[in-house]
Amino acid sequence: MTPLLIAIVLFGACIGSFTNVVAWRLPRQESPIWPGSHCPSCGHPVRWHDNVPVLGWLCLRGRCRDCSTTISPRYPIVEAVSGGLWLSALIPAFGNGEPTMVLITLLTGLVLISLLLPLVLIDLDHLWLPEPICRAGVICGVLATVLIAWGAGSDNPMETLLNHLIASATGLLVMEGLSALAQRLLGQPALGLGDAKLAAMAGAWLGLGGLGISMALAVFSGAAVGTLGRCTGRLGPRQPFPFGPFIAFGIWMTWLMGAPWWWQRWLALVGGA
Ligand SMILES: [Zn+2]
Repeated sequence: MTPLLIAIVLFGACIGSFTNVVAWRLPRQESPIWPGSHCPSCGHPVRWHDNVPVLGWLCLRGRCRDCSTTISPRYPIVEAVSGGLWLSALIPAFGNGEPTMVLITLLTGLVLISLLLPLVLIDLDHLWLPEPICRAGVICGVLATVLIAWGAGSDNPMETLLNHLIASATGLLVMEGLSALAQRLLGQPALGLGDAKLAAMAGAWLGLGGLGISMALAVFSGAAVGTLGRCTGRLGPRQPFPFGPFIAFGIWMTWLMGAPWWWQRWLALVGGA
């Protein structure tokens, strides 16, 4: 079991390394594959042993081997976080006793987190959720739903698929509607159209119930962080901040625990109040 866990973390860290490259290059319209990693300051190619996730950065003490320019600690942090997130993908997999379903749940979860992480980074940097990744996210969500619905031998897989397709369309339309409404009320764009595409992705992966839960988690976590940012003065009064990371957080939390689990917590909270 342990070698499997280590392998998952290492693979996750490697994908995290690639995610760093994608997050840097996609907004600059550069190919994520060619040329290989190079120092953005001096242009020297990064040696393979310096490119080892986390360890490479630690060995170099966060500086380029050639020109000594500082390399942001964000790189090893993203790699480590990606490794941790890959490990967390085991949580929903273990709920499924059947080996085929364990594998399907794990693999689809890894695809989901590998799509969410670059979206989060690019939205943090550029307030932009790239359309190609969102579109791939919706398509992968539909494929994952097909795999899970038919793989689990559920009574009515067609109904599940339909639910997720409707949820995807609902996410897109509701968020676009809210965005238009907010713009009229506030006189400035409040939600990006990218957020609507990410909501479409949430629906495709999670279905109608999961879409509701994930968006609720996004709104609560976004409001909490936004309020904290405004109170501490780190965020200006009308300064926009990306909502995509919070939607991604909501999607991942719903994926990990399942919509019914969150729904029960919510009912307990409301009932206890
Ligand atoms: Zn350099």
